[in-house]
Amino acid sequence: MRHIAIIGSGPAGYYSAEAAQRKFGDDVAVDIIDRLPVPFGLIRTGVAPDHQSIKAVSRRYEKTNLGDNVRFVGNVTVGQDITVSELQDLYDAVVLATGAPHDRELDIPGSDLPGVIGSAAFVGWYNGHPDFRDLDPPLDARSVAIIGNGNVALDVARILAKTEDEFVGSDIVGHALDALKNSKVEKITFLGRRGPHQIAMTPKELGELALLERARPVVEAEDFPDPGDDAMLEPGMRKSVTHLRNFQIAAADARHKPIEIIFDFFAMPVEVQGEGKVERLIVERTELDQNLRSIGTGERYALDCQMVISCIGYRTPPIEGVPYEHGRGRFANSDGRILPGLYCVGWAKRGPSGTIGTNKPDGFAVVDKIDEDIGSSSRKVGRPGLDALLAERGVEAVTFRDWKKIEEAEIARARDGSPREKFTDIAEMIAARKT
Ligand code: NAP
Repeated sequence: MRHIAIIGSGPAGYYSAEAAQRKFGDDVAVDIIDRLPVPFGLIRTGVAPDHQSIKAVSRRYEKTNLGDNVRFVGNVTVGQDITVSELQDLYDAVVLATGAPHDRELDIPGSDLPGVIGSAAFVGWYNGHPDFRDLDPPLDARSVAIIGNGNVALDVARILAKTEDEFVGSDIVGHALDALKNSKVEKITFLGRRGPHQIAMTPKELGELALLERARPVVEAEDFPDPGDDAMLEPGMRKSVTHLRNFQIAAADARHKPIEIIFDFFAMPVEVQGEGKVERLIVERTELDQNLRSIGTGERYALDCQMVISCIGYRTPPIEGVPYEHGRGRFANSDGRILPGLYCVGWAKRGPSGTIGTNKPDGFAVVDKIDEDIGSSSRKVGRPGLDALLAERGVEAVTFRDWKKIEEAEIARARDGSPREKFTDIAEMIAARKT
């Protein structure tokens, strides 16, 4: 029997567990450990609440967990309740699937002013992550600056712009829906430090902006290269740029929509200013060098705004004793191998890029490495050893069966038209499993 511990119950963790199940059959015991009492990581608290079809992949993870050889061990924080090296003593392989839940730092003067929020916090807030339930973003802001031209920036703008009716069918948490209902936002500006040909927004997600009930995307023709240049783009990117061009064509018909979502390209934020809170963002115009990197032109202007949401990517939090690549914000690894018996997968391995599905081949690849490295017989104790340590330390782990009780309670308290009303407090989650 092989014993594998996976830290993190998001997509990378579950695909790795599925791969281990397929490769080793009954000859493996996998424990998926998570600091929250609820599973699925990014699917639950990262994927936008109005993208339920993406969230439906959790059913596949549930199937993985229903096998006897995979166990969910929630409410256990690695690094606090148990260390990585203790886990390495107990398991043949320890796989870090901890994702990239922390924001890349917006390293400009004034970024510590109230009203400057990282996307991890804002997304966590509307998705009911316990760490961010008390965020209280200043939604009395009339003008919001969103830094970054990626899909997270798009999610954030769409959530800010939607009407209450447009959230029907979503699982946005009640506190966020109530706050957004009273929002005063009328202008949302995306600041992209490069141009339309360098965006990181994918076509389907970008196209949704044109369908919003009360918001209209705004682009400036002069920011675009010659239309003939689009032919050089790879097909996905070409589709995205076509959406941007179409926003301009459709602009006249959308004029009645009161909220503007403005694309400000070649725009690099350099300072946040305000008396005790955000009042404006100082932005420098950029141009591209030969390597398509943005360089400042020296021309600066002020964008009045009362909230700044930085959507410039994420990083994996380091864990004591685990080699870490600071520049890239992920564990130092060679194709998923960190140290003998210690592996990483998903965003913790690659950095925050790709779709949910990208984690699948990643999960299968790490299990191949484990297979090459550990052989078939084990002298490790595995599960009973973990249970004994947790019991000794008074840590109350949450099982998958417990999670199903929590889920039942979340479904039971859902508002009309919503699949669930998430608990946002850990104590409430734990209490719900006993109902
Ligand atoms: P991302 O795709 O890497 O985009 C980050 C954006 O921030 C880029 O436009 C980047 O510009 C900009 N940026 C980085 N550092 C900056 C700085 N210091 N100042 C100004 N701008 C800066 O990251 P993301 O949006 O966080 O998304 C993470 C991953 O999740 C992506 O793979 C994304 O596709 C995926 N995701 C997918 C979905 C979906 O499929 N529905 C939804 C959300 C997220 P440069 O290009 O110039 O570096």
